[in-house]
Amino acid sequence: MKIKVLTLFPEMYESLKSGVIGKAIEKEIFDLEIINIRDYSKDKHKRCDDYPYGGGAGMVMTPQPAHDAINSVDPNHVFYRIYLSPKGKTLNQKKVETLSKVENILLFNGSYEGIDQRIIDLDIDEEISIGDYVLTSGDLASMVLINAVSRYVKGVLGSEESTDEESFADGLLEYPHYTRPYEFEGLCVPDILIGGDHSAVAEWRKEQSILLTKKLRPDLIDGRNS
Ligand code: SAM
Repeated sequence: MKIKVLTLFPEMYESLKSGVIGKAIEKEIFDLEIINIRDYSKDKHKRCDDYPYGGGAGMVMTPQPAHDAINSVDPNHVFYRIYLSPKGKTLNQKKVETLSKVENILLFNGSYEGIDQRIIDLDIDEEISIGDYVLTSGDLASMVLINAVSRYVKGVLGSEESTDEESFADGLLEYPHYTRPYEFEGLCVPDILIGGDHSAVAEWRKEQSILLTKKLRPDLIDGRNS
């Protein structure tokens, strides 16, 4: 999988170099390229923003650097081009899994009040949001997407970790986990987990999953039934 990120803040992506994702990049399990949109600005001061037509607060990202950057790094439009935006469809696990099967992804990150609409009309395949709140730029959203998607890329997670039984995998939240010690601050591990009966454990976990989902995220249960 190849991911190209277009941003005005390339330094933010340094944090991706640590942990599981950092190791996957190091081992070249997936290819991540960070591109500075400002490098494509033809303005003599490398500006990438201007005042909005019609007035109003804030600045707007100008179309020239964005258009040139996108089409220089993806001249034949072989990358699936995503604009991170609060107006997009909200990212969920199903979408993450779908995106993990896309070979080439380009993430375009807005800043200021966002990008000139003509870039979305001309150059973008889909707008994706990470939630109903507004961030200062698309970069944290991009990093969330990269992190979630890369967990599905073969070789990124260790063999002992799996996406199969996790929260959302089958439309439910995951069951609760316990580890040693058996007793902690007066609370004990449920006996069923130490009895060695694997099918009873599996059944208990399924029940817990359903109970937890009903309690914490009833909307997910409704979604499964519809
Ligand atoms: N004026 C825009 C609006 O009201 O929809 C918000 C602009 S925001 C300050 C700057 C940039 O951050 C956006 O262009 C987008 O790229 C990114 N962004 C902000 N919130 C986001 C979210 N929830 N999901 C994905 N990207 C987001």
